[in-house]
Amino acid sequence: MIATAVRVRFAPSPTGYLHVGGARTALFNWLYARNQRGRFILRIEDTDQARSTEEACGAILRALEFLGLDWDEGPGAEGDHGPYLQSQRLPRYRQTLEALKASGRVYPCYCTPEELDARRELAVARGQMPGYDGRCRELSVSQRARLEAEGRAASWRLRAPTEGVTAWTDLVCGRREFQNALLSDRVLSRADGFPTYNFAAVVDDHEMAISHVLRGDDHVSNTPVQLLIYDACGWLPPKFGHLPMILGPDGKRLSKRHGATSVEEFETMGILPDALLNYLALLGWSPGVEGEEIYAREQLVRKFSLKRVASSPASFDYRKLDFINGEHIKRLPPQRRAALVRPRLQERGWQVDVAWRTPAGADAELYLDLVLRALGNRFNDLRRVLDQVAYFFTEDYPVDAAAVATDLGADEARARLARLADNLTAADDGVSVMPAAGFEKVARDTVAQLDVEASLLIHPCRVAVTGQLASARIFPVLELLGAPRVIARLRRAAGLG
Ligand code: GLU
Repeated sequence: MIATAVRVRFAPSPTGYLHVGGARTALFNWLYARNQRGRFILRIEDTDQARSTEEACGAILRALEFLGLDWDEGPGAEGDHGPYLQSQRLPRYRQTLEALKASGRVYPCYCTPEELDARRELAVARGQMPGYDGRCRELSVSQRARLEAEGRAASWRLRAPTEGVTAWTDLVCGRREFQNALLSDRVLSRADGFPTYNFAAVVDDHEMAISHVLRGDDHVSNTPVQLLIYDACGWLPPKFGHLPMILGPDGKRLSKRHGATSVEEFETMGILPDALLNYLALLGWSPGVEGEEIYAREQLVRKFSLKRVASSPASFDYRKLDFINGEHIKRLPPQRRAALVRPRLQERGWQVDVAWRTPAGADAELYLDLVLRALGNRFNDLRRVLDQVAYFFTEDYPVDAAAVATDLGADEARARLARLADNLTAADDGVSVMPAAGFEKVARDTVAQLDVEASLLIHPCRVAVTGQLASARIFPVLELLGAPRVIARLRRAAGLG
């Protein structure tokens, strides 16, 4: 048997931003395609003219680009199966509809939306099924002619079987079965000539030679309808897999109420694309390795398998996403870390003052690199990093009031800082950069002079110079700040500046 080439697709409707649910669907399709050396196709389902916008389409493409989910065929990557925008494929749907008319697998329905609504309400009130009641299914030629003479436009419905079941083996959930009697005859083509989602999706999946349809489980109920359409067209259906629902922390379907839901919001929050992909991959899929959760994109591609996609709902955990993001930040090479922080510094207008005597001199790039090295693994959150490094760039850095009260509240503490400032001034030659070891020696000498515990000088010094109770190792920090700035901050904290 010749294995069919894997061709999967992501088929968003451009009616809003790319939601994490959509991003997860795109990711699983992309991972499967890359893992299987298949093709990943992007199709824009924009036949809902009233709700589709170009802006939303642009936002979705940008979000996919941000995530690095590159498509082999789709808008901007024309392949052999285009066009990839449904609004440009209308003649294809018409052609298939004509074939279905010829084979009698569809019939015209003249019911107006108002009539359908009224009958649906009545059925619900009587406790009956609300689906289409088959009124136009067996109209005679003369009855049709009469309705057309009334000026009614026809939509076209699938003549679906009324008995038996429609079943498939879902790649995620196993065997699924729907009673045909409950499916009712669906509209394939509306009275305005536009195809419905189910019809357009089937025509496109067939014509684009899609081998596997992987999508959210909110589409499970569309699958039997689509299988009936494949059957009516005489086409072999692809395989289907429905990905588990994503829930919020309260067990309800994830929505804006729970927090950020669009890829764009996560980008603004400083979540790295690879971290978001890593997190989304674990929402419904498991690599099968206990305790391991940090994966680079290439590892995900290598390990991904549909067999390990779970059928039970996945719960979105914002804290875990932050943790995974932090782990990705920690693993970035220095230039990438600097590239993340640089634009944020520029936004604040923070620069290296050329007058400062630091190991980096006036070299802003080197200075930033040294700052981030000093911060080390403490840098794990892009939202916090500016507060963490502020004292390296501005005198207006955030100060922890509780730390000031504890460590700088007493007169003795301030007097100790004044002594340290004096000793540093004496040790500073006013020209060269004082190394960490130089600061350390002056601090030790000061402790000896004062005859106190080292911590009684070091803690107030840290709070005075960084505004924080905890920072990177203090002496390298002092070297980086340079003696003039350190002395000025110590004097200010001592109440002298
Ligand atoms: N346009 C549909 C959606 O955005 C796609 C459904 C499918 O993948 O078949 O939900």
